[in-house]
Amino acid sequence: MSGRVRFLVFFLCLISLSAALGTGQAESLSDLPPLSIQDGTAGGDEALRPSPLPLPDDRPFIIRFGDRNVPRIALTMDDCYEIPFVRKAFELCGELGIVMTFYPLGCMLKEEDRELWQAIADSGCEIGTHTLYHNDIGKMDKATLLRNLLKPQEILDSLLGYHYPIRSIRPPYGNIEDENGNPSRAVRVLRQAGFDHVVNWDVSQTDPWKALPAVRNGSILLYHARWKDMECISVLVPELLKKGFEFVTVSELLDFPPLATSTDLYTYRLSDYQGRM
Ligand SMILES: [Zn+2]
Repeated sequence: MSGRVRFLVFFLCLISLSAALGTGQAESLSDLPPLSIQDGTAGGDEALRPSPLPLPDDRPFIIRFGDRNVPRIALTMDDCYEIPFVRKAFELCGELGIVMTFYPLGCMLKEEDRELWQAIADSGCEIGTHTLYHNDIGKMDKATLLRNLLKPQEILDSLLGYHYPIRSIRPPYGNIEDENGNPSRAVRVLRQAGFDHVVNWDVSQTDPWKALPAVRNGSILLYHARWKDMECISVLVPELLKKGFEFVTVSELLDFPPLATSTDLYTYRLSDYQGRM
């Protein structure tokens, strides 16, 4: 290869890498292992969680929105501390004929709410995860992080009575960076736990009239299970439907593999992962 050709190849690699990372994405992903973003093979560390995982692709690891050319959007609700508002949001979905994605904390998946979560799963709405206790993903050591990522799967399976593979994760505070602003440790562990992306948002606004013009094709809307947010959603969603937006789950918006449930309930064991950490 002549020097000029080699320079051209190098230059093209740089361009495609920056495209893969996404313009305007603030994450400093530059010191990830070279394989991680583009070929997505995660260094041969196939995930152990028995679920159909999002396929590796060339999108940024942190996703904030879907296809800007298609009028599909995803409504999401984090934390789920106040279950009455989870119920209200779910009822609104039924009334308006839409689906949404809930990101409950593992600790909020309680026995007493079993029927609600079963109904949500049955309805076509999605249940993702927001970790176990809302600790910052970027600040945890590997073992603690694995437990925070995978214990919610075990709790959810036990609640539903079948294996419902969690496909989508919303990091608490939207963050996966460590103290030095480096996300690579969290990215490696997230991949090991079966998440090829984390899902953030591009609209977070509890005034419906400010939210309305901010929503674009592919938008991911962040809300929480609380009174103020429910007030907003009940005005905003009908307005967005009038504008022609279709509401889909996050996994549908991002073309993750279809949900494939099974009877094999998942149990988290750190020892399954220890040789690989
Ligand atoms: Zn949260």
